[in-house]
Amino acid sequence: MGSAYAVGYNGGIMSRLNATHAPGRRSWLDSANVPGCDFPIQNLPHGVVTTADGRVGGAVAIGDKALLLGRAIEAGLLVEAAAEAHAAAEPTLNRFMEMGRPAASRLRRALGDLLDVENADRAKLVTMDGLLSPLESVRPCLPAAIGGFTDFLCSYFHTSTARRGRAARPIPDAFRHLPIGYNSRASSVVPSGHPLVRPRGQGRDAQTGDVYFEPTRSMDFELEVGVFIGGTPNPIGQPMSMEEAEARLFGFVILNDWSARDIQHFENRLGPFLGKSLLTTISPWIVTAEAMAPFRAPCDVRQETDPPYPPHLDSTFNRQAGALRLELEARLSTSLQRAEGRKPAVISRTQMHQAAYWSFAQMLTHHASSGCNMRPGDLIGSGTLSGEPEETAATMLEITAGTAALELPGETRLWLEDGDEVILTGYARAPGHVPIGFGACSGQVHPAPPWPSSMTAESTEEVSI
Ligand code: MN
Repeated sequence: MGSAYAVGYNGGIMSRLNATHAPGRRSWLDSANVPGCDFPIQNLPHGVVTTADGRVGGAVAIGDKALLLGRAIEAGLLVEAAAEAHAAAEPTLNRFMEMGRPAASRLRRALGDLLDVENADRAKLVTMDGLLSPLESVRPCLPAAIGGFTDFLCSYFHTSTARRGRAARPIPDAFRHLPIGYNSRASSVVPSGHPLVRPRGQGRDAQTGDVYFEPTRSMDFELEVGVFIGGTPNPIGQPMSMEEAEARLFGFVILNDWSARDIQHFENRLGPFLGKSLLTTISPWIVTAEAMAPFRAPCDVRQETDPPYPPHLDSTFNRQAGALRLELEARLSTSLQRAEGRKPAVISRTQMHQAAYWSFAQMLTHHASSGCNMRPGDLIGSGTLSGEPEETAATMLEITAGTAALELPGETRLWLEDGDEVILTGYARAPGHVPIGFGACSGQVHPAPPWPSSMTAESTEEVSI
């Protein structure tokens, strides 16, 4: 157990595959062996959940169940990786993330052994003690205290492509030289299922030219992938190498960077602010970098004629396997569809390695190149992962451009309407490997409540000093 059965790509430590990836491996939990299931024994993603009895703690998804790590420890299991299991059982995973990828790897090996069909006798103990909760009975929580959230712009096609009558936009001068990003809002990152209350903001009416303050007229989603940072923080003033950055990628989530386009476009001088800070939703399970090792690929997008990578954003590993081979899908569920019993409509299908011009390691290295300290639990968003073909457009801004309505049975959409639910999913697939999924990243748009009359100038009472 634990010996490498295959070494991928350049043979570097980061790409090493081991027994936890073995495609023949099965679990004693039948639901984990169903072909196409998100959480086979080769995945073992980490999250934090609230159980039906109100307990909050770290868990691992397997098949259709959540394995509650606190209870597994109480039952005397996972002793081979006790320190790691204790950290991963906490109500936030920051300390576990800080322990780094070798620690996550030790726990992954212990979890794989515990859940392996070869250990069916221990399985009886596990099921007897009620350590496994059905996924639908637990509520996902944020997996970390997120100190900082940075969102990037890694897709060339999202940046430039003409779609639906929208003119091609010029690529910013810096785009081919560095991953462009902005500091977004960490406090409004929420787990899947959290409602999105339509935000109010200021925009300019295209017809009248008047500036309004009202519920956004152009609610949008952005299909992205997020990465949680782990490992020992770099001190302020100390950059990191590409190799260090790669080792600090703890694990990945699907991310919806909800965007209010009218607010964003009117305010946009210093970069996005209220148009983006309103809410960001992430999928509940962090798929570890080790679980994603079989699904690495080069960033396909870069052309021979593009400027060379700057040396500090270049590495052999990154050229060969910097990106994730990850199939992404956005579905839209409307009130009418639900009333008529119809399934959500697929509105975008894209592949990360065919959309991303820059890799996560390059984003992180660039982020730290100014001497910015990156801490465990920090979150980085890839940016909208639109590819070149039309069906890969990964935001309403590109699907409709606000002018060419998306046709659905019995209704149309320019932007998201109240009652709409956006469901994002991700699925990693590669020849010779068991595919793994991320679970859903979903959120429903709720109407903006009335603006409190006490918060308008007309009703403000005189303040006595
Ligand atoms: Mn974004």
